[in-house]
Amino acid sequence: MHRFYDPALDIELIGSGRAFEETLFALPRQRLALDGGWGNTDIFAQPNLFLSHLHMDHALGLPRFVVNRQKMGDGSCRIFVPAAALDDARGIVAAWQRAERRRDPVEWVGVEDGLEVEYEGPWRLRFFSTDHNVPSAGVCLLRKQSRVRPEYADLSPKEIGRLVRDGAEPVETTWLPAFAWCGDTSASVFERHPWLYDVRILVTECTFIQAFHDEPGVTRGHTSWEDLCERAERFSNTALILSHFSRRYSAERIWEHLNQTSPDTLRQRLRPLISVPGSEDRGLG
Ligand SMILES: [Zn+2]
Ligand SMILES: [Zn+2]
Repeated sequence: MHRFYDPALDIELIGSGRAFEETLFALPRQRLALDGGWGNTDIFAQPNLFLSHLHMDHALGLPRFVVNRQKMGDGSCRIFVPAAALDDARGIVAAWQRAERRRDPVEWVGVEDGLEVEYEGPWRLRFFSTDHNVPSAGVCLLRKQSRVRPEYADLSPKEIGRLVRDGAEPVETTWLPAFAWCGDTSASVFERHPWLYDVRILVTECTFIQAFHDEPGVTRGHTSWEDLCERAERFSNTALILSHFSRRYSAERIWEHLNQTSPDTLRQRLRPLISVPGSEDRGLG
C-alpha cells in the first residue's frame, strides 16, 4: 500500500497497482475509489467508484464494493464506468445480486470522452478517453477557484468589494485540473489530451521499463518508460506518479533503472509507486 499527499490541494492518494495482479486506489478526502482491484476496506469506504476498465485485476472488487456499501454509512453507491462497458459492469453486479438474492441500489453513470459532472465540495470530474485493449477511460478532478479578473488585478480588496456591491463581476470562477488518473493506457493518451502534461498531480501507468521493439505487440495498450522519456520535456506536473509496473521486474530493478536513466526534467517530479527499502514512495529527485 502506497500513500501520496499534497497538502496544498488536500489530495491524499492511497493504494497500489501492479500489472496483471491488482490495481486499486482511493482518494479518501474526495470520497472516490479508483478501480476496485479485488476489493478492500479502503475502497468500500468510498461512496463513489470510478472503474477505468473491466480487466479482472482492476474490477474484480466491483460486486464486493456494491454489497459492502450497504453495510457502511448511508450505503450510497455511485459507479462511473466507460459507457461502452456499462452493460457488462451491470451484468456482473446483477449476476451476483441474483445469486445472493440481493437488490442493492446502485447509481450507474456511463462516461464518455469529455463528459464533466459536478461532484462534491469544490470538485468537478472530467472523464477522458484512453487507449487500452478493452473500453477504457481516465478521470480528472478539477478544483474550483475564484480569482479577480485580470482587468481588476490592481484594485484593493475594498475596491473589489465595492464593485461587487455595485453589481459588477470582478471575480471569476476557473477550474484547475488538479489530479488526473489514467488507468491502463498507451502513451498516445498524451497526444489525445495534451492538457494532461499540465495537471498538478498526474498518475499514469508505466507497465514496462523497456520498450520491446522486437515484439511490438507486448506493449500494446500500455505505456513504457521509454514512452515517458520521449515526452520528458512536456511534463510540467508537480508530481508524476507511476504505477502498474509489470511483475517481470523487481522493485529494486525498477528503482535502479529509473534512477540511472531518468532525464532531469522527469527526475524532479517523479514518484514511482514501488517499495524499495529506504526509499519507499519517495521521488527520485
Ligand atoms: Zn492493468
Ligand atoms: Zn488493463
